[in-house]
Amino acid sequence: MHNARYIELKRMDVRKFFRENIKNLTPYSTARDEFQGTLGTYLDANENPYDNGYNRYPDPHQRELKRRLGEVKGVPVQQIFIGNGSDEPIDLVFRVFCEPGRHNAVSMAPTYGMYQVAAAINDVQMREVQLEPDFSLNEEKLLAATDAATRLLFLCSPNNPTGNLLPAAQVERILRAFHGMVVLDEAYIDFAGWEKSFLHRLDEFPNLIVLQTLSKAWGMAGLRLGLAFAQPVVIETMSRVKYPYNINVVTQKLVYDRLAQGLEAQVAEICSERQRVVAAMQTLPIIRKVYPTDANFVLVKVEDARGLYNRLIEEGVIVRDRSRIAGCAGCLRITIGTPKENDHLLQILSQA
Ligand code: PMP
Repeated sequence: MHNARYIELKRMDVRKFFRENIKNLTPYSTARDEFQGTLGTYLDANENPYDNGYNRYPDPHQRELKRRLGEVKGVPVQQIFIGNGSDEPIDLVFRVFCEPGRHNAVSMAPTYGMYQVAAAINDVQMREVQLEPDFSLNEEKLLAATDAATRLLFLCSPNNPTGNLLPAAQVERILRAFHGMVVLDEAYIDFAGWEKSFLHRLDEFPNLIVLQTLSKAWGMAGLRLGLAFAQPVVIETMSRVKYPYNINVVTQKLVYDRLAQGLEAQVAEICSERQRVVAAMQTLPIIRKVYPTDANFVLVKVEDARGLYNRLIEEGVIVRDRSRIAGCAGCLRITIGTPKENDHLLQILSQA
């Protein structure tokens, strides 16, 4: 039985999930689509001809950067989409897969707020399935919220703001059971361990879209670069719908160069600081509960979340008050900083 279902999944043709108008969309053809070359007199794009490093339009297909990212991630370039932060592919999946006012999406809750906002912008109903009190996911409840009009199912692992990683076997069961696209947001996966990623399993699951970002472990939030990975027909369709020049010249160049430095040293440092901060917090009377985390932040439950939030602000430390979110009553989300910043935080907490 298990085997039969697997074969069925391999054969799943996801093109049937594309919106009708998107299936037949002719994308804007840029000047740089019509002529590709590096040497020449460019009088085709109405640019200012005087070179300042950014007077020319960027490569709309980000070829060089994709090649480099393909090496770094171990994924063929045909399976990579580059967006203006992950927020761009989050919006695009609604535009590619959901008919406004007709299709719906399902996500766990609490989770990253942009799925809900992007759904609302696109006039797509978002059905939120509450996580259990320990923030584990009940997959039966999640799947029960889907119906024939559900095109997208959002999973976030490690999840924001709870910090926990979803068990791989559970993600796999959901991928097999759901007849639609599963968007697995791995924004924080580098802090959980690279080997936990589903990136190397794209060929097993035609309905899988993995999101990653350079905003977290890679330290490039200001450059705005998010990634989506999926089978080529999904990537090709998302690319037809995106803004032609969505990644600017400066970002393409700086990211390309910065990728050579790697991320291991800083990730190791942040993870060891996470362990130290969590251990110290567990001894503080003001902290009622420190939730387990696989990310670069930790969710803590305290007696008076707003009061502590304000106290921290007085000391110049800004954290995220998540106490009004369902399931997170009394909770603050605290990012792991530098050792010095973490010392400062712990000192305030120990005196509060
Ligand atoms: N996904 C998750 C789970 C996030 O927490 C965030 C940012 N807070 C993002 C995506 C957005 O990242 P980006 O900077 O790539 O838009």
